[in-house]
Amino acid sequence: MARCDISDTIVAIATPIGESGIGIVRISGQDALSIADKIFVSKDNKKPSTFKTYTTHYGWIVETQDSKIIDEVILTVMRAPRSYTKEDIVEINCHGGIVALRRVLDLVLENGCRLAEPGEFTKRAFLNGRIDLAQAEAVLDIIRAKTDSALKIGAEQLKGALSFKINKFRKALLDILAILEANIDFPGEEISPADLKDITKNLGNINDEFKSLLESAQHGRILREGISVVICGKPNVGKSSLLNALLKQERSIVTPIAGTTRDTIEEIIDIKGIPIRIMDTAGIIEPKDLVEKKAVERAKRYIALADLVILLFDGSQRLTPEDEILIKKLKKKTTIAIINKIDLKQKIERQRINKIFRRPIEISAKESQNINLLEDAVANLVYNGRVTSSEPLLVSNLRHIRAIKEAQKLIAETLNSLDNRLSLEFIAQDVKDALLYLDDILGKRFSEDLLDKIFSEFCIGK
Ligand code: GDP
Repeated sequence: MARCDISDTIVAIATPIGESGIGIVRISGQDALSIADKIFVSKDNKKPSTFKTYTTHYGWIVETQDSKIIDEVILTVMRAPRSYTKEDIVEINCHGGIVALRRVLDLVLENGCRLAEPGEFTKRAFLNGRIDLAQAEAVLDIIRAKTDSALKIGAEQLKGALSFKINKFRKALLDILAILEANIDFPGEEISPADLKDITKNLGNINDEFKSLLESAQHGRILREGISVVICGKPNVGKSSLLNALLKQERSIVTPIAGTTRDTIEEIIDIKGIPIRIMDTAGIIEPKDLVEKKAVERAKRYIALADLVILLFDGSQRLTPEDEILIKKLKKKTTIAIINKIDLKQKIERQRINKIFRRPIEISAKESQNINLLEDAVANLVYNGRVTSSEPLLVSNLRHIRAIKEAQKLIAETLNSLDNRLSLEFIAQDVKDALLYLDDILGKRFSEDLLDKIFSEFCIGK
């Protein structure tokens, strides 16, 4: 089967596997209704193929029309082309529970369906032209959103906000290309000064808009993917207490992240809309034995990977050699220094810390005092002191950012070429190449590999 084949009918369990109130089996394709006819008996004995679109029906899933009942269900019909995939879709709301769901799934498979690949429903929505590729990617962003801000970007993008903007750029570039090519076709004549002025102005505007999109992209990317943070400090300095104080104050999500270590559990905290992935709280100390050596190596690895380190000092103690080791190790890393235990009598050498770290933050993790100052510091660092924009952010996806960056470079190049009075062919070629990058974002041109890469990140059933 060719991967982009959309002629067959696919099925998947669209809800997470496990005990739940309901579980949904989703079928999409030209045989969805005829398959449903074979396995569903409605209360009033009507066939799904006679149901109106967007109607739900109570009934039972059966192995054969007069055999025993597998599950009591609600069946919904959504007819092509006004459905998620633009194909006929049947959704069967079963009782949640892995056995019932699997039996229904198997039955649908036996009746001529193929098991859907991850993201294949959304892939069909793209291949059938209901959404463009940027919108398909937004579906994944919505599923994966860890904070309200990330959800907002995803929702805007799914609605088509980014696609609208990219299409606007495409149209403007196509208009410019038309003028350039008309002039190329009549090489004897010079391009009129008015046309040249227009082209220069329009390309300049597009260049500026690309640049401002790229500026906001960094911010958008952080809101989407978050930053990884390591809390470190010598034993008993208050690392776990700080984590608890942060968790108490903020919404936290524990997510299993599929990655290098499949079973890593990450704690994600939402600080001012930024997903903060707390990786580990192990400190670095000079190893005394083998077990310690392993822990230290792991901590070092995490610190190397972290975008930001929160380094804790104990305000009630003088600095120790362990503190000094950490100070040395973290000199080159983006670090927020914290003096903890300010509720106790203070002994720490503040002057020394002030000399190394800009404005250490004074907190009491135990009493949850000044935790908000730490959050402000994190947010400030992330946004580089810039106030969070209230403008809807459009670009957060690395693939889109790269394409816009390439397109921007080419447009900047055309402006240079115009300045230097280079030939129109040359300029037209750069405009054409920039257009191709915009096409990539929308999926107007794509490779099987790209689709595989994008949709393999989806869950099955989406
Ligand atoms: P960790 O080993 O760095 O994770 O340190 P813990 O969070 O387990 O804290 C070690 C001890 O210090 C515990 O008894 C905490 O209650 C105490 N502690 C942590 N933060 C504070 C604080 O701000 N003030 C006081 N007085 N005690 C604290």
